[in-house]
Amino acid sequence: MKLILLGPPGAGKGTQAKMLTEEFGIPQISTGDILRAAVKEGTPMGIKAKGFMDSGALVPDEVVIGIVTERLQKEDCNSGFILDGFPRTVPQADALADNLKGLDKDLDAVVSLEVDVEALVERLTGRRTCKECGRGYHIAFDPSRTEGVCDACGGELFQRDDDQEETIRKRLDVYNEQTSPLTDYYAAAGLLKSLDGMQEIGTVQQQMLEVLKAV
Ligand code: ADP
Ligand code: ADP
Ligand code: ZN
Repeated sequence: MKLILLGPPGAGKGTQAKMLTEEFGIPQISTGDILRAAVKEGTPMGIKAKGFMDSGALVPDEVVIGIVTERLQKEDCNSGFILDGFPRTVPQADALADNLKGLDKDLDAVVSLEVDVEALVERLTGRRTCKECGRGYHIAFDPSRTEGVCDACGGELFQRDDDQEETIRKRLDVYNEQTSPLTDYYAAAGLLKSLDGMQEIGTVQQQMLEVLKAV
């Protein structure tokens, strides 16, 4: 299964991707997670990316294209992958298409999660993320069993710096300007499947699996 999860920040891409990795035994490739790890380690790429991320802007295309190109060559991608948060611009989508052509791989589907703006803000302000494994929670909609502690690995939960209302609004503007054209892009390619992302996590998950069984 070679899949892209598309949708604005807070749509539920990471939440659904985690479930799909278990269901299909394929890796989640989250450019946001890879960039945050680079920032934490203080690598040259992380230092370059940090300012963009803190302000809610996109990291330059060549940086994220480089990350994904390298990642897709790893052996664990042979049976498939879930791209979460990439592509986010038309040049990124074009680069991905070239890349997959070179690797002799085709995308199976692009699933778009559709969620209202105010719900996105509520989801992102209440999001908590595990420091160790990156799993996401929500203080009201998907709380951990013990407050502040990851169910999966016992790691400490924290609130991302960019999950503050002002930065969230900026990220949503960036999404509308730079990423939303990708729905037409993938519809034209005959790959787009749209899901109502306003439903409960478990319902979205069920519908996701139904859609993917049909591709
Ligand atoms: P969210 O889960 O809220 O959609 P991500 O974790 O995917 O956020 O991304 C966090 C930040 O990392 C983005 O605001 C952006 O600065 C950077 N980033 C992640 N993926 C990309 C990408 N494909 N292109 C450019 N920047 C990216
Ligand atoms: P994305 O990766 O698209 O930015 P996440 O998967 O991190 O989004 O989800 C954003 C926040 O919303 C998280 O706190 C998550 O627990 C919560 N969430 C995800 N899906 C749903 C849903 N269907 N209903 C309510 N809250 C959700
Ligand atoms: Zn964890």
